[in-house]
Amino acid sequence: MLVRFWGTRGSIATPGGATLRYGGNTPCVEVTSDSGTTLLIDAGTGANALGKALMEQGRAAHGHILISHTHWDHIQGLPFFAPLFVPGAEWHIYGPRGIGQTLQDLLAAQMDYAYFPVAHNAFAARLHYHEVVEGGFSVEDVRIATQYLNHPALTVGYRLAADGASMVYASDHEPHDRRAGEGHLDGGESGDAAHLEFLRDADLVIHDAQYTAAEYPAKIGWGHSTIEYAVDVAMAANVRKLALYHHDPTRSDEAVDQLISAARERVARAADHLSVVGAAEGSVIELRRAADATKTAPFLPSSLVKPARSISEELVLMAGVPANDRAILTAAAKADGIPSVAEVVIEKLKEAVQGGHPSLIFLGDALPDPVALCAEIRALPGEDSKETPIIIVADQSQVPVDDNSEPAGVTDWLTRPYSLQYARSRMRAWLMRSMLRWRKAALPPDEEARLAAVYRLGLLDTDAEERFDRHARIAAAAFDAPIALVTLIDRERQWYKAHYGFDFSETSRDMGFCSHAILQSEALVVNDAMQDDRFADNPVVIGAPHVRFYAGIPLHAADGARVGAFCIVDSKPRSLSAAQLRMLKDIARLIEDELKPRAASKAD
Ligand SMILES: [Zn+2]
Ligand SMILES: [Zn+2]
Repeated sequence: MLVRFWGTRGSIATPGGATLRYGGNTPCVEVTSDSGTTLLIDAGTGANALGKALMEQGRAAHGHILISHTHWDHIQGLPFFAPLFVPGAEWHIYGPRGIGQTLQDLLAAQMDYAYFPVAHNAFAARLHYHEVVEGGFSVEDVRIATQYLNHPALTVGYRLAADGASMVYASDHEPHDRRAGEGHLDGGESGDAAHLEFLRDADLVIHDAQYTAAEYPAKIGWGHSTIEYAVDVAMAANVRKLALYHHDPTRSDEAVDQLISAARERVARAADHLSVVGAAEGSVIELRRAADATKTAPFLPSSLVKPARSISEELVLMAGVPANDRAILTAAAKADGIPSVAEVVIEKLKEAVQGGHPSLIFLGDALPDPVALCAEIRALPGEDSKETPIIIVADQSQVPVDDNSEPAGVTDWLTRPYSLQYARSRMRAWLMRSMLRWRKAALPPDEEARLAAVYRLGLLDTDAEERFDRHARIAAAAFDAPIALVTLIDRERQWYKAHYGFDFSETSRDMGFCSHAILQSEALVVNDAMQDDRFADNPVVIGAPHVRFYAGIPLHAADGARVGAFCIVDSKPRSLSAAQLRMLKDIARLIEDELKPRAASKAD
């Protein structure tokens, strides 16, 4: 994987003698996989020169553009990116899904007649817009995970894995806990812990480092990191190389040099091995499979995304939130067309959690002890009480230093002062997670007994066997399906005893369709996953292997427990005739015969 910087400057393009070495163009990074997959991350003014280079190199015909967020400095080069004007070229544009407007509308707005002489529809290339949520997808041979960053616009960070190496792009991000921005990482909010996990073990992290800890107090809430925080979080996450990025426009080359020296001294003082560079326009970083890497980076999304179990009417409930905060939060919700925001008394709140599953709960510091109330809500019966995001609105000084909010189940803290823009982007991120069109399968009522039956089979993590493989192969051929699987559902994962046409030996239970199939006595047939609220945003639907059609038959152990499923999968919508469904069930019965305990044969 090759990483080349075309724009490294934050906020506004800053050409001139003082910025020659690190560059004056706004964010744009080119990533090329060994097999030639071309990706841009962000399309600031740096995209102009990159576009010309791709034209000259004959690489303009197709590629992918990942947009972190639609702030000006990250999209302004898009109308100047020449490959988009090449007839017949094909480009994919990815960016965070908004609540009201589409990504296409947001990007088109900057080409409105009043601001720009060329209309958005003048792009001659075929453009495909993909709205991403927190999760993951694949682009050719590059696996991509996304995670929301902390910024006054809904912003995603991208983690790319290809060729045995991984890199993270985390620009325009402010630590959730302000003490971390001041150089004290030990304080802990769950959002900062998630950020650290997102960077974990990456070969390269390109990180926002616009300010220093000394400058930070005047810049709180602007949505950017300090070099101290970037260094600390990279060291804590065991990152190999850190590229300081999104340089402040007031920073001369010499000033950036000083920041890099300071960052390196910080690493030396911590006796860490992190390598720190300043992202410089034109510089290239080559990422190779690490010699000590045992396997390629795992497919991350399952660990990051938490699909909800049920979808709600988008109720935002507040309790004990002081009037001023309530006004900002209500305005933020209204601005995104979320109509239903209500302040309720504690008893009503608890009732709502048990009956109406609100999407989001704010607890304010007008309550005697919001953390304790959060713990009480978490202890209520039912799954919604565990899964509804609960945000505490308070002053920074009220956030516990060592994160004991974890046991209380606090999802996040919203600390004062915060702007309307900040509240809006944070609310979008919290809601977007619960608005995912992707549902966890419920746990079967007999889950523990069912798991015991799975373990009794003694098949988990065993080698492939022809007696199972042949059924997958036959089904794939008979149904002309690219993928056929024999799945066992373990506690957290679905594991494949046979996987025809699919490289992975397991996926998380949350991502699996078969975990839904075992809830039914009959077949589960999903004709088009994109049309199904349980599956539309599932990473295996929006990314490889792009599941659209699924037909699965639950597999029973000898005692009747549903231990797994047998399924066929296709990447295009389909349906099955009654005769086909009968045949699929017949094959499933043959597989069940193989699951039965077998009398020891004479030879072995
Ligand atoms: Zn920016
Ligand atoms: Zn920004």
